[in-house]
Amino acid sequence: MDRTANLQRMADTVLDLLVIGGGITGAGIAWDASLRGMHVGVLEKNDFASGTSSRSTKLIHGGLRYLKQGEIILVREVGRERALLHSKVPHLVIPTPMLLPIFQGGTYGFWATSIGLYIYDLLAGVKRGERRTMLNREETIRMEPLIKTDGLKGAGYYYEYRTDDARLTIEILKTAVENGALIGNYAKVTGFVYEDGKCTGVKAEDQLTQKVFIIRAKKIVNAAGPWVDQVRKRDGVLNGKRLFLTKGVHLVFHHDRLPVRHAAYFDVPDGRMIFVIPRGDVTYVGTTDTAYSGCVDEPRTTIADRDYLISAVNQMFPSVNLTPEDVVSTWAGLRPLIYEDGKKPSELSRKDEIFLSRSGLITIAGGKLTGFRKMAEKVVNLVAAQLKNDEGIVFPDCSTVQAPISGGYLEGYEYEQWKQIVALEGKQRGIDDAAVSELLSLYGANVLKIYQLFDSIYDYDSKIRLLRAQILYSIQSEMTVTAVDYLVRRTGLLYFDRIRTEETARRVVEIMGDVLGWDVQEKQAQLAAVEAEIAVVKHLPATETARVP
Ligand code: FAD
Repeated sequence: MDRTANLQRMADTVLDLLVIGGGITGAGIAWDASLRGMHVGVLEKNDFASGTSSRSTKLIHGGLRYLKQGEIILVREVGRERALLHSKVPHLVIPTPMLLPIFQGGTYGFWATSIGLYIYDLLAGVKRGERRTMLNREETIRMEPLIKTDGLKGAGYYYEYRTDDARLTIEILKTAVENGALIGNYAKVTGFVYEDGKCTGVKAEDQLTQKVFIIRAKKIVNAAGPWVDQVRKRDGVLNGKRLFLTKGVHLVFHHDRLPVRHAAYFDVPDGRMIFVIPRGDVTYVGTTDTAYSGCVDEPRTTIADRDYLISAVNQMFPSVNLTPEDVVSTWAGLRPLIYEDGKKPSELSRKDEIFLSRSGLITIAGGKLTGFRKMAEKVVNLVAAQLKNDEGIVFPDCSTVQAPISGGYLEGYEYEQWKQIVALEGKQRGIDDAAVSELLSLYGANVLKIYQLFDSIYDYDSKIRLLRAQILYSIQSEMTVTAVDYLVRRTGLLYFDRIRTEETARRVVEIMGDVLGWDVQEKQAQLAAVEAEIAVVKHLPATETARVP
């Protein structure tokens, strides 16, 4: 609800740091900078996390893939990051056992996998209960009866951590705001302001009112993910390194159509590896990795992407016989990778890099969701060093290792105890266990704030009261502006429960309309926008969306 006021407040001051982009990278930078006492602002052209940060495989990786590439330091770093994030937001970064099946003639044999996973456990500092075990053929089949038995030798059994990328981004932004950051979604940076050749501000257009703000800052960071080169272009010519975009898609199936018992990570015939991940009532599968030159704003899952993944799954789980009609939802995202001569998409490094332009614009490109905190530390260290050099101001070191994250303030309780308290409080209000567990997985400790809102609403039956409380919280505390924001990024409902999205869309629009004062026309427009998003996941095109020149 502070969106417009925030934009005005940014325009009325000179920020220490302005961040362009409200994905996980921009969110992490704002969090770190705000904790150091910097006056920081974030501008996001669409909704927070609407770019790649809601379209990933949603894993906080330990980095098996990096081990394969010999990137020892990276394995250690991401292993520690995932343990740290789990300790801060246990409802959002969840240990998930994973099978790594081994086949005759596959990329790695039984012993190589066993040694590889052992080294991985050591490097990543994996805790005892989650260290790898090796399963023989019979044990593997017992664990996963659907798995292909032809040539099966056994499997590695290890842990990855599952998350919700968009929710993680929102919680990090909320934490930054609690520490004084100013943020605004639907605020697009359309140009830069210069003094003596140095970039000292931006023009930002409010996408809802078309009002233009000039926002000044001592330092500006471009964290625009797949759009970083578009932003760099607005700052002058693109020189030096460039982005190389690759597209990755995921498909979602009802769990009873792909009833795997465990998540699995396996080879496909073209040498790539894909994940199959059960999550509540669905199982999702991904991802592809193809060079992308279509429209950056609208990556889509094409029919060819769908067929590639279905065929990979049918080959690994031969009895399931998935067909295109089984796909209930899908999402497509773009990896903002850094171009390297002569490398195939899947060979390009996932490392992050910082580019400095002549005007002083700092760009951070590449990287992973998993490494966002370290990326932010690197960027904010650079900003702090520049501010010290320019103005002699000294900011403290990074403190995100120690700092809590919104949704993870458990008031001294262990997470399991906390869950029981929340369940009990839910029961007292007539909220059933399934609803409590869904609320917990979305909001963690902030469920209590939703309960408070629930208590303040008297006129509705308990299900509608709860939906209303959730939407109110979302509008008041998560800058939810449209019904699509709520159904896609704040709850993930469109991806993980499309049918419920179709059933509740109208009610969500009605409730949001009551709170935000929408007239009939606005409500129709909001509903049409939701229907358009539903159509995107239901009707797949044969070709990519064309790039606007
Ligand atoms: P984005 O999330 O795209 O954010 C950039 C933001 O900038 C966007 O919201 C955009 O709207 C905004 N913006 C652009 N231009 C402007 C402008 N002019 N003004 C204002 N705002 C602007 N990583 C993992 O760790 N684990 C995984 O499991 C994983 N799986 C992946 C699977 C796929 C298919 C893909 C594509 C990536 C995956 N990644 C994974 C990588 C991870 O998702 C990305 O590294 C990360 O989300 C990038 O975040 P970002 O903030 O840099 O970019």
